[in-house]
Amino acid sequence: MTATLPVIFVGHGSPLTAFEDNQFTRGWSQLTKAIQPNAVLCISAHWCTQGTGVTAMKSPRTIHDFHGFPEALYQFRYPAPGSPELGQRVKELLPTSDVVMDQQWGLDHGCWAVMKHLFPNAEVPVVQLSIDMTREPQWHYDIGKALQPLRDQGVLIIGSGNVVHNLRQIDFQNESAVFPWAKTFNDHVHECIQLRNHQPLIDYTQGDSTLRHCALLSVPTPDHYYPLLYVLGASDANDAIEIVLDKVVLGSISMLSVKLGV
Ligand code: ZN
Repeated sequence: MTATLPVIFVGHGSPLTAFEDNQFTRGWSQLTKAIQPNAVLCISAHWCTQGTGVTAMKSPRTIHDFHGFPEALYQFRYPAPGSPELGQRVKELLPTSDVVMDQQWGLDHGCWAVMKHLFPNAEVPVVQLSIDMTREPQWHYDIGKALQPLRDQGVLIIGSGNVVHNLRQIDFQNESAVFPWAKTFNDHVHECIQLRNHQPLIDYTQGDSTLRHCALLSVPTPDHYYPLLYVLGASDANDAIEIVLDKVVLGSISMLSVKLGV
């Protein structure tokens, strides 16, 4: 019998983090120390679609979906196998009829920059699930819930995004800067996760006027926020809650990372 695996949300930050050894990458590698999944299902902020896609190829390519970074990043390959079988299981679990078994995508940097630290040997098969940007936050949370049975089948569900992600406001001169609105929203998310109080996180644009203001600056577009909703949806009331990292960097990027379950 396979034990129930945890679900993980990782604040991924810059693609450069893939090659760094710092407090974040060391925190990430701790996440999977005691876990041996059969496969990983990754919901990355960098695969946004209309309708839902699930990667279904045997050998997903490494996608270099960024510009202006050092050449080494473009040369990097993360050669994990895919899993068409898991892709099919995901499709069957989802309560929506517009799921495409995708043969085009692969592993984007929201996935491989994290996987490189979680599973450096790339031995675990990886499937990506896209984020349908035409849907409401509650829908994404409910999809996470629908994926819950995979946790009992040896599948590690990973959401990769950032709770606070505002590239327009970013302060590149000061790594330790934290804008007050970023701190307010990040602290709110942290507290709600700890209290298992998910509804305010689903309805993140509907808080009081101060919180709403902070939420809209922290989540100017929801692509990096939604992966958290999948992970919360896939958690249950018995899961241990471990906030692995909680730090805002460059003013407007939150590296908050959490493990739910053991
Ligand atoms: Zn990103």
